[in-house]
Amino acid sequence: MKLIKGGRLLTGEIRDVLVEDGVISRIGADLPAGDAEVVDAAGKLVVPGLVDTHLHLWQTPLRGMTADLWAREYFHTVHPMSEYYTPEDMYWATYAGGLELLSHGVTQVFDYCHSANSPEHVDASIRGLRDAGIRATYGFGLFEREGATYRDRAHRLDDLARVAEEVRDDALVGVALAIDHRYDEKAVARARELGLGISVHGNPVGLLAEFADAGALAPDVLWVHGNYASEREIAALAASGAFLSLTPDIEMGMGKPVAVFDRAVRAGVPITLGVDVVSYACADLLTQMRLAYALHRLLDGEKERARGHVPPHRDLDVPLVSARDVVRWVTVNGARALGRTATGIEEGAPADVILVETEPFGLSMGDPAGHLVLQTTSRDIDTVFVGGEVRYTAGGLVGVDGPELSARLRETRERLLRTRDLGTTAG
Ligand SMILES: [Zn+2]
Repeated sequence: MKLIKGGRLLTGEIRDVLVEDGVISRIGADLPAGDAEVVDAAGKLVVPGLVDTHLHLWQTPLRGMTADLWAREYFHTVHPMSEYYTPEDMYWATYAGGLELLSHGVTQVFDYCHSANSPEHVDASIRGLRDAGIRATYGFGLFEREGATYRDRAHRLDDLARVAEEVRDDALVGVALAIDHRYDEKAVARARELGLGISVHGNPVGLLAEFADAGALAPDVLWVHGNYASEREIAALAASGAFLSLTPDIEMGMGKPVAVFDRAVRAGVPITLGVDVVSYACADLLTQMRLAYALHRLLDGEKERARGHVPPHRDLDVPLVSARDVVRWVTVNGARALGRTATGIEEGAPADVILVETEPFGLSMGDPAGHLVLQTTSRDIDTVFVGGEVRYTAGGLVGVDGPELSARLRETRERLLRTRDLGTTAG
């Protein structure tokens, strides 16, 4: 039992938060500590853990491989690396990636795995997520790779069923179908039979319409990117209740159309955010929040200037995305997109909580949500709880051998590059 004492909620109120059995059991002013371990949160914001809904953790050892490259080169440079991963490489990549997220205040992730090359690869990824102690959905990918041991797609789907059974009672790690760049009726039906969520890498033109026309869009779908979606497709997404994951750094950085940010908000699509690839940018969701917020203001400002409003000011029909909206995207929406119903700093919600230091420079004068979006960096992440367990403090990751982790990641990267240069696949 833990009592997080005297922190400030995003509502602005100073409150105590009692955690029992991994769940927030009470929120109130001056709660008695009783037997609980007291965590002093004075001067700190008490914020729901951030949720990243689209990330490929297998790429963790490939950090920064694509700086200055564009989308086509990313596919030609990074994706073929998948063939060189052994299960052990998958373990260290996923484990380290999960820890890196925790250090940025991210307590839950959808790990969209393009490298589910064998049952052993899948099991190693899931072990990596479990050992990192992050709440996670493992996105079981259907991508065909050279050297993969699955006989065919049916074999992969049977293995998905095996994994679904294995994680059924896991408190932190679940599994979902991560579909590749085409509609596959059988795979979608199988995932639904198993009660699993479905995430779709959604940039091929017309793919969203294909899902919509097949009646396959529903609230259990997490659509990713959608940069090329038509108005009709965005409307279908909104009507279906499916979630959208936008990844500002990668979409802007890889030169994709970003008007979807504005169009999805206008249509009422529930938005979530992700980092996508650390082979391009850092796994820091706070940065994605600030980029998304800035991008909306950029798009609104362009519209206002086009109407002759210089210096820009707002008309009522221009949507204002508030800092509070952006916080909702990475907390409540993200958790709902990954199948959770109890979210946020609320009684009955899992105790996935971060404490954000606001001293010595002080809390923002405006909305505390604005402080999180505009004034907070990972430097300010003070404590990270997942299911009530402390996983990270300002002193570092809890229970992690840092030098060992660096050594294993370095070895993994060196081995991958050596295998690539020899032109062989992992065996
Ligand atoms: Zn992606």
